[in-house]
Amino acid sequence: MAAPKVAVVGAGVVGLSVALCVADAFPSCSLAVLAERFTPSTTSDVAAGMLIPHTAPDTPIHVQKQWFKETFTHLFDINNSAEASEAGIHLVSGWQVFKSTPEEELPFWSDVVLGFRTMSKAELQKFPQHRYGQAFTTLKCDCPPYLLWMEKRLKAKGVQMFTRKVANLWELHNEYDIVVNCTGIGAHQLVGDQELFPVRGQVLKVHAPWVKNFVRDGDGLTYIYPGISNITLGGTREKEIWSLSPDPSTTKDIFDRCCSLEPSLQAAQEVKVQVGLRPSRASVRLQREVWSQGGAKLLVVHNYGHGSGGFSMHWGTAKEAARLVGECIAALQDSSSRAKL
Ligand code: FAD
Repeated sequence: MAAPKVAVVGAGVVGLSVALCVADAFPSCSLAVLAERFTPSTTSDVAAGMLIPHTAPDTPIHVQKQWFKETFTHLFDINNSAEASEAGIHLVSGWQVFKSTPEEELPFWSDVVLGFRTMSKAELQKFPQHRYGQAFTTLKCDCPPYLLWMEKRLKAKGVQMFTRKVANLWELHNEYDIVVNCTGIGAHQLVGDQELFPVRGQVLKVHAPWVKNFVRDGDGLTYIYPGISNITLGGTREKEIWSLSPDPSTTKDIFDRCCSLEPSLQAAQEVKVQVGLRPSRASVRLQREVWSQGGAKLLVVHNYGHGSGGFSMHWGTAKEAARLVGECIAALQDSSSRAKL
């Protein structure tokens, strides 16, 4: 049988990581990435890129924990290598603070991040409006550099990249045997997934190099995430809102909320305001399908719907998607050897 032709549709953090996992696991495949937009124009470019998971209600916790752990381990290895700075990966320590003690004092990811502990009274004095807090060290991706670094690695492995808007996955069946759908919020239209909805997020990228620690309000709405080149200040979580236009009054509100957590930000210089649509679903769609029409077949693997946690989970879900691609390759080989009998 000829080498299977695989297309990954989507070049955000999910598509690029799937392409890397497939290229590593099945080097004899002919692999291409097709996307309407590449970095710096994807939702993944807007994200803060912090490794702090959000819970998806319909995915078992042990599965989410495994995806997070695999992602953390993978990025920790990059962090500990000479590639760290080009890949935009670094460790960051800080605090998650609460106005009252949360129901769940030990989140499922507490033993994956480093040094998770309850904050001391002395540390809490920095946050007079908050009564309880957790201190830990986690990883952060500076998103555009991380996406560029993944693209560079894919090109070095001979993976082709095409700018192309796909109107229907079926249009690819003459060119490819297997298609991996990593289109994020684009899957709403591409495969008509009504369970997928946007959660709009507006953030500010500011320059304030003296802020070294992250601060996250436990409600997840207000956060200060220092990166290598700038600091992400957030944010908003607006369900079912599709607008990508920044709202000036929201910008002021975000800035004021962040300054109340870290008053020195008053001296920050604003770099830009960005908006992105989190591809949200009760669970990530990570699934294999066979599409057929008039005797022709296309094997499809879906991997989208990572909501607020695409960076936190991407490597774990990419490994699972690559495993499903492996099942597709086995099915193709099986049907080709049966055809020869
Ligand atoms: P995308 O990045 O949107 O990529 C989708 C790709 O598919 C693009 O290349 C697009 O062009 C392509 N595409 C879509 N439709 C088509 C089509 N029809 N044909 C061809 N190509 C198509 N997550 C974290 O883990 N940590 C954070 O700190 C964090 N902060 C965030 C802050 C904000 C403000 C926002 C908005 C999100 C944040 N997220 C965070 C969530 C994270 O950004 C997403 O989960 C992640 O980016 C989703 O990645 P993706 O690759 O699925 O989608």
